[in-house]
Amino acid sequence: MTDPKLRLEDVETHFPTNTGLVDRLLGNQGASVVRAVDGVTVDVREGEAFGLAGESGCGKTTLGKTAIRLLDPTSGTISFDGRDVTNISGSELKSFRREAQIIHQDPYKSVNPRFKVYDWVVEPLKIHGIGTKEERRNRVYETLEEAGLRPPGEYVNEYPSELSGGQRQRVGIARALVLKPSFLLADEPASMLDVSLRASVLDVFQRLQSEFGLTAMYISHDLSLLKHICDRIGIMYLGTLVEVGPADELIANPKHPYTKALVSSVPIIDPDVDRTPVDVDGEVPDPTDVPSGCRFHPRCPEAMPECRERDPPTFDVGAGRRTNCLLYEEDAATETEPTRAE
Ligand code: SF4
Repeated sequence: MTDPKLRLEDVETHFPTNTGLVDRLLGNQGASVVRAVDGVTVDVREGEAFGLAGESGCGKTTLGKTAIRLLDPTSGTISFDGRDVTNISGSELKSFRREAQIIHQDPYKSVNPRFKVYDWVVEPLKIHGIGTKEERRNRVYETLEEAGLRPPGEYVNEYPSELSGGQRQRVGIARALVLKPSFLLADEPASMLDVSLRASVLDVFQRLQSEFGLTAMYISHDLSLLKHICDRIGIMYLGTLVEVGPADELIANPKHPYTKALVSSVPIIDPDVDRTPVDVDGEVPDPTDVPSGCRFHPRCPEAMPECRERDPPTFDVGAGRRTNCLLYEEDAATETEPTRAE
């Protein structure tokens, strides 16, 4: 079997909570930690679109940024193209950055308003010392076209304030693509856009993926969007992946009670999808105070007494699907490594 494009093994990203002067003087610094990512194992295959879904605060953005080393993991291993990149730094990290790029959520904040479009998109090529002036110019024009800004000559001298939200997002896409990365992390890439622009920006992603064989991780709270553009989806809850599977099947037949609740709460126009509402009480718990046993048990409509005590391992439930729920202990073919779907 070939190596996956990206492999995360038991990755944790924890942050110390802010402590006041008195705490620091008393040596209490870091007494509690935010367990934003708390033991995630997953593979993203070459050329696939992998979606990460979950409520706000579940850790999906932290996981994505950790995966491409914009954040340092607290523990665990990150491999990219079979190479351990967990602790790389300096020139190795710089070279990894060429391969793995991010598109941010907010096109109004992620494009520097003081730069003209050309200067913003060409900057990564200059930082990495790529090409002659003419080669860089050609690459910028080519990339703007690929991102759907046609003809590029009409945009290169514009400032972001002169562009629409959709055009700005395309500028952000062009800046990410100009280095010809092989992996793209798109964090809520269309959530700030209206419905018509959203569709056209998502079309750009799909076209780019199929034309250039990019591997992508899409982060979104919108399951209908992920169903549309992803091959597989992982559901995050309180820093962990609780279910992973092919997008269509996971949404048509969710296994984990949390996935069932998410699926039942979003508008998905699909007759195959079970629309029975699933009630889940309360908010995602404080990630500094993770519940014992199954971390979903205080909110789970199907919780059993043992769920308070036992942290569910990952169960293989067939057809490339995994879930961390004790309801599947009897049915599961095997107890498997945590949430790896190969
Ligand atoms: Fe619910 Fe128990 Fe399954 Fe956790 S292990 S999701 S509490 S049924």
